[in-house]
Amino acid sequence: MTHLLDGPGRPAAQQPSWPDAEALKGAIDTLASFPPVVFAGECDVLRERMALASQGKAFVLQGGDCAETFAAATADNIRDRVKTILQMAAVLTYGASVPVVKVGRMAGQYAKPRSSDVETRDGETLPAYRGDMVNDFEFTPQARIPDPQRMVRAYHASTATLNLVRAFTTGGYADLRHVHDWNKGFVATPANAAYEKLARDIDKAMRFMLACGADFDAMRATEFFAAHEALILDYERPLTRVDHRSGRLYDTSGHFIWIGERTRDLDGAHIDYVARVHNPIGVKLSTKTTADYVEQVMDRLDPERTPGRLTFITRMGARQIRDALPPIIEAATAAGAAVTWICDPMHGNTFESSSGYKTRDFADIVEEVHGFFDVHRALGTVPGGIHIELTGNDVTECIGGAEKILDADLTKRYESVCDPRLNHRQGLELAFLVA
Ligand code: PEP
Ligand code: MN
Repeated sequence: MTHLLDGPGRPAAQQPSWPDAEALKGAIDTLASFPPVVFAGECDVLRERMALASQGKAFVLQGGDCAETFAAATADNIRDRVKTILQMAAVLTYGASVPVVKVGRMAGQYAKPRSSDVETRDGETLPAYRGDMVNDFEFTPQARIPDPQRMVRAYHASTATLNLVRAFTTGGYADLRHVHDWNKGFVATPANAAYEKLARDIDKAMRFMLACGADFDAMRATEFFAAHEALILDYERPLTRVDHRSGRLYDTSGHFIWIGERTRDLDGAHIDYVARVHNPIGVKLSTKTTADYVEQVMDRLDPERTPGRLTFITRMGARQIRDALPPIIEAATAAGAAVTWICDPMHGNTFESSSGYKTRDFADIVEEVHGFFDVHRALGTVPGGIHIELTGNDVTECIGGAEKILDADLTKRYESVCDPRLNHRQGLELAFLVA
C-alpha cells in the first residue's frame, strides 16, 4: 500500500528524521494491519454536509486542541471538549437557522508543523517537539528523539477518543435539551448577561417545538466528525485504504483532513497525497496565498469542482482579512470554485505577550470572524463555517472575553503544548457573538 502512495520524489516538508529505519518500518507495518479509524461511508456523509455548507444550507463548526496529547486524552477532557462544541453548535444553529456540522480537531491531531527543526533553551539545542505522534514535549535529549512507536500510540489514542465521542453523541449525552440547559447556566453568570436574551429566545423556540409535538427523540443523538492536519505521511499512508464499494482510496485516519499553511506546496508530497484520497479535504490559506495558487490547487485537488470536496480554511489575521481575503475569493470564483469557505480566526492572530506567553486576544478573534462575514457578504459568496482552537477546560491561554483574562492571568493555567486555545467560556461566548 505505502509504495502506491509515494509521490515520485516529491519533497515532504515537516517530516521527522526517524533515527531507526527498522523501527519505522515496523510501525508502518503495524499501522497498515490495523482496522480503519473511520469508514469511507462516513467520509462521504461529511462530504455531503460540507457541500451544503458551501451553499449556505449548513454551517460548519470545527474545533479542538491545537495539539492533542496522550496525557490529556482522558474521559473528562474528551467529554468537556465535546460538550463545548455541542453548546456552541446549539447557539450557532439558532443564530444561522441552518444545521451545524460538528467537526472535532480530535482523534488524530497529534502532529505539529514547526518553524524550526530545533529548539534552544538556556544554551541547549534539541530537536523541536513535533507532537505526541513523533516525540515527547519534555526538554531532554531522550524525550525529543522521534520514536515511530508513537504513531502506533497515536492510533490507539485516536480510536479510544473517537469511541468515547461516538458514545457521547449517540447515547443521550448530546440531547439538545441538556445542551440548552448547560447554555442557560452559562448566561446566568453576571459576566455573560449580555447573551441572556438570545438564550431566552432559544428557550422559547424549544418550548414552541415541544408544544407542536416536535420529535425530541431525533434530538437525542447528533452527528460528530473527526478532523486533523494530515502532516506525518508515515502515519497517514498506512491508514489509507481502498473502499470496497467504490474502489477509491480514503484516508481512514479521520473524516476530514487538512493540509497546513506550511505544507501546501503544489509540488510537495502533501498535496500529492491528498489529491489521491477521496475524503473531504481542507487547505489552510494565509496572507501569502496568491490568486494563481488558488486556481492551481483547485485544479489539483478538485478538478471536477465537486461541492464538499475542497474547503479553504483562511487564516489571515484580524487586521489583514479585509484586504487579503477578497482577491483570493475572487480568484476562486473566477476559476469556477465550488469550495467551502471556513474562517480560522486563530492562526493569524498569535503574538507573544509581555509576560512571554504565546497568546491571542479574544477581540482579534471576534474581529477576524466579523471581517470574514463582511467580505463574503460584499462579494456574494458563502461563509461556510469557523475553525477554532478550544478546550473544554478553564485554561487561561487567550486574553480577553467577558471574563477579562489579562496578560498577568496567563501564568495561572497555561496548559497548551502548542498554540493558545479558547477556554470553555470563551468558546461559548464566541458562538453567542457569531450567532
Ligand atoms: C494549526 O492548525 O494548528 C496550524 C499549524 O495551522 P496553520 O497551518 O494554518 O499554521
Ligand atoms: Mn495551532
